[in-house]
Amino acid sequence: MNYYEVAILKSPQENLTYQSLDEIENGTKVFISLRNRKNLIEAVVVKKVEEPTFKCSDIGEITSFFYSTEMLEIATFISQYYVCSFGEAISLYIPFNKEIKINEEQQLFDSKIVLSKEQEKAFEFYLQKKQFLLFANTGSGKTEIYIKAIEKVLNANANAILLMPEISLTPQMENRLEKVFGNSVAIWHSKVTKKRKEQILEGIYTGNIKVVAGARSALFLPFKNLKLIVVDEEHDESYKSDSKPRYNAKDLSIYIAKKYNLNLILGSATASIGSFHKLPFIRLKKTYFDTSKRVYFDNSSQELSVAIIDKISTTLSRGNQVIVFLPTRANFKYQICTSCGKSVECPYCSVSMSLHKNDLALKCHYCGYTQKIPDSCPSCGNGIIHNLRVGTAEVEERLKEFFPQKIVKRFDRDEIKTDNKLKSVLNEFNSNKIDILVGTQMLSKGHDYHNVKLAVVLGIDSVLNMNSYKSRERALSLLIQIAGRSGRKGEGEVIVQTQNEEFFDYYINSSDYEEFLKSELEFREGLYPPYLKMAKIIFAHANGLKVKDELDRYVKLLKQNGNIEVVGFGQSPIFKLANKYRYEIIIRSSNIKELLKVLHSIKSTMVTIDMDTNF
Ligand SMILES: [Zn+2]
Ligand SMILES: [Zn+2]
Repeated sequence: MNYYEVAILKSPQENLTYQSLDEIENGTKVFISLRNRKNLIEAVVVKKVEEPTFKCSDIGEITSFFYSTEMLEIATFISQYYVCSFGEAISLYIPFNKEIKINEEQQLFDSKIVLSKEQEKAFEFYLQKKQFLLFANTGSGKTEIYIKAIEKVLNANANAILLMPEISLTPQMENRLEKVFGNSVAIWHSKVTKKRKEQILEGIYTGNIKVVAGARSALFLPFKNLKLIVVDEEHDESYKSDSKPRYNAKDLSIYIAKKYNLNLILGSATASIGSFHKLPFIRLKKTYFDTSKRVYFDNSSQELSVAIIDKISTTLSRGNQVIVFLPTRANFKYQICTSCGKSVECPYCSVSMSLHKNDLALKCHYCGYTQKIPDSCPSCGNGIIHNLRVGTAEVEERLKEFFPQKIVKRFDRDEIKTDNKLKSVLNEFNSNKIDILVGTQMLSKGHDYHNVKLAVVLGIDSVLNMNSYKSRERALSLLIQIAGRSGRKGEGEVIVQTQNEEFFDYYINSSDYEEFLKSELEFREGLYPPYLKMAKIIFAHANGLKVKDELDRYVKLLKQNGNIEVVGFGQSPIFKLANKYRYEIIIRSSNIKELLKVLHSIKSTMVTIDMDTNF
């Protein structure tokens, strides 16, 4: 008899021991039954073990599917780093299939792309470094470099993955890739039909599909000879999964590339601080089209001010299109000084505090510190701290009133729910059937708007004043990304409504994003990532008293541990969610091993752990 440790797919349970007369290879997918129950469930053989002292059940069925050694290794890392079971981690992967024959026929691709001098330099840098950050302004031609790199890998009979934020997987990108790679490329994201996914998998198994452009789950496809991972818009926070396992596909790509010596390109116009800190980079500044851009600031506190309406009106009268950006789809409140535009910071965490409940209090979600809204602004001494509210629906209505003859449409998650809807709105907009597009972050992600001559940015101060150590990075990067959408061909204008003109103006007009990243790194040193690791421990339960007790118990326990620091604890920003009361503890440490040890020691069923959380 043989004995095996098996992990149950998608289960938080620890691994179990089963027996079989067969010799089973590690990584094989099998079926087992739990505690004499009839129905069979999916599991994976992790390793062969000695005969245990207890009685084992038989493995039910052995399949032809298997997870490679690399998959098992990476899943082990995921379960340790992102604190989940091995069964949950390995379930991210789609296994290989032994039964399908591989088409070994070599195929050669010729993209016919001629790189510019600047691009050529970046490509040389890539060949030399193997793993790098392509820190490239919008329109400077990142995509050509990606395609060249993919072409080279495919012509060496290997595979490549191009990761993009789900929303950037546009028909435009699809067409570009298909032009070069034909049927060898496939697009993979959550809205792809089940049937199409099966076809793609079949293509990957046979080797006919050699490259996939996809959302974060594409990282777990069964490629036989993966040699290149490209992460486009690498600053995008949607690479972090918000359900278990709470991995970050970008960070995981860096880990995988380093461990297996793969090629890696992280691309962004607004590189994330983490990647800027970790990887060698090259700047591409020249824009591909000859664009000249003008950025104006409007410091009125009224949402659609006279200056903004004037600008929109002029742009429309010339037959051009306008995009209007707002940071959140719903109504969102934030605090700001009427006079200087600053917000009240937490004295312990150096981040803006958020408004709380009755609006009379300010609260820091990191450390739980709460204070009354001060009578006058602590920064300038004479302004008043007040609440502002922003929302796409309201702005859309107002614009319709101002411009009754024009077509105004909304572009956010409430409006755009399907892939077809996304395609149709983008098509309408690009064929001039819409005059003004009002939207959220969705507007900023990778779409090409041919005829936009004005980008209006509202409510950016709400991002800047968010209760997060990332708020400056988020606000500036968003603004630059949106500005990049205006005037991609020819002249473009941007009008930014802000009471923090000095900050934005400096990094947009006088200095640049690289300078910003350097100064931000200084601010974070000793306090925040990438210098320290931070994790959030979320407690949730339907019984509010029980969960509060559990929180208190862990706060006490964690505070006794000298290797980590309890930054703060308290109610979650959304206290009651799906009928459960929620609390959280935030901890940090410069010692990753100790931090993980602590996180793994938490055995409470009420707890979810969020490593490298997007605060
Ligand atoms: Zn002030
Ligand atoms: Zn604080």
